[in-house]
Amino acid sequence: TPVTIVVVGSVAAGTSAAAKARRNTESARITIYERDHDISYSGCGLPYFVGGAVASIDALTPRTPAWFAKRYGVDVRTGHEVVSVDAAARTVEVRDLATGETFTDTYDELVLATGVHPVVPAVPGIPAPGVFTVRTPQDARDIDAWIRDRDARAAVVVGAGYIGLEMAEQLVHRGLDVTVVEALPHAMARLDPDMSARVDAQLRAHGVDLRTRTALTAVEATADGVTGVVVRDGAGEARIAADLVVVAVGVRPNTDLAVQAGVRLGPTGAIAVDRRQHTSVAHVWAAGDVAESFDLVTGEPAWVPLGSTANKTGRILGDAITGGPLEHRGILGTSIVRVFDLGVGGTGLTETAARAAGYDVEVLHNIKPDRPEYLGGRPLVIKAVADRATGRLLGAQVIGSSGADKRLDVLATAITFGADVADLFHLDLAYSPAFATTKDPVHYTGMALD
Ligand code: FAD
Repeated sequence: TPVTIVVVGSVAAGTSAAAKARRNTESARITIYERDHDISYSGCGLPYFVGGAVASIDALTPRTPAWFAKRYGVDVRTGHEVVSVDAAARTVEVRDLATGETFTDTYDELVLATGVHPVVPAVPGIPAPGVFTVRTPQDARDIDAWIRDRDARAAVVVGAGYIGLEMAEQLVHRGLDVTVVEALPHAMARLDPDMSARVDAQLRAHGVDLRTRTALTAVEATADGVTGVVVRDGAGEARIAADLVVVAVGVRPNTDLAVQAGVRLGPTGAIAVDRRQHTSVAHVWAAGDVAESFDLVTGEPAWVPLGSTANKTGRILGDAITGGPLEHRGILGTSIVRVFDLGVGGTGLTETAARAAGYDVEVLHNIKPDRPEYLGGRPLVIKAVADRATGRLLGAQVIGSSGADKRLDVLATAITFGADVADLFHLDLAYSPAFATTKDPVHYTGMALD
């Protein structure tokens, strides 16, 4: 077992790795360097703080360095940036951001859990006061303070992926007029267009001015702050007034340190790792959003940066680095977002992705109530995708106002274990009218090829 483990990054993957390593070995010296102030936070909860559903940001940042020191004997150094790695000498150069001084630390094993950074569009007017990305607790505090101090009334959210939609929903809850600008034809373009069109309708039904096929071309601001955005769609340019702009157009992995260390990146641009989360350079490991994974269905390299995967790969890394048996088994990119009263989720391949991967695709659609109508059942839309040649399930998308999460997870589990469509009908699922129908919507998907 290693004597010294150095971890870079202290949110989901870095802390999971350190905690698991510590459980496996009492003796190792484990240090985490984190350039930010907040650690081990729930980034996923940030929109709900902005919207007021989470009263205090402290609820999202429950862990402190003192807690990690006491509970795990892990030394978390915030405000410390790792600026370079010498993989041959097994040293890192660390800058104390408070003093500006740098020092060298040595490692037996190095963990890169450096995460991602939000993409900021290269348009005139950015940066400007009142234009935000959403990644860290400080971002959420800043947005909250801006809305309060400026009495902000109108927000433009750029990007209709899941973070953009969560922010849009929460800003509506906070009483703002919200416009969402999306360059693609639909919101939630990770789903197939027939499913994401339902998300478009849901946003509009809740008062969101959704502008698809619309590109941000500029941000307008005075010295005092943002005043609006300029967008272009098929009809030409338009100006949208705003006193708050949230940019959520995607993220890129923080791979600078890895590249400097000579670590190979995969075809997705994230760090290539093996199933134990080891990189191409000896004694250098990577997990979480910065690391590439592989698609459980196709076996191809895949990069879907999610907290669920970051916690899992961090734990696998922490085990493997201390000689344990855990190996990563791949991802389906399973994810879900709430859009007002709808749950919207997907797992595995979409129809579009399955066709692109060369499958002869069978599409299975059903719309069934999630419970009997006499107990308030509401339509649940399931679109599943199967391989016509073998009947094997490749992916599923689910939209519904209740029970969407359960069906999505059942389908993700089935796909994980290689189920074919007919297997779904035979699943022994729980039934009571309070929760499901005698034949569950998942069973109906399993009957679609009969
Ligand atoms: P990060 O959280 O990016 O942490 C990496 C850390 O490394 C950062 O703190 C960074 O400062 C530090 N670092 C980088 N380079 C250095 C360096 N050189 N020296 C020192 N420190 C460094 N996921 C879900 O699964 N479900 C959700 O519902 C969901 N919702 C989300 C909502 C929002 C608004 C956001 C922002 C994210 C959401 N996520 C969600 C994603 C989830 O938060 C991330 O997948 C998770 O935080 C990834 O953890 P990580 O440890 O890999 O990386």
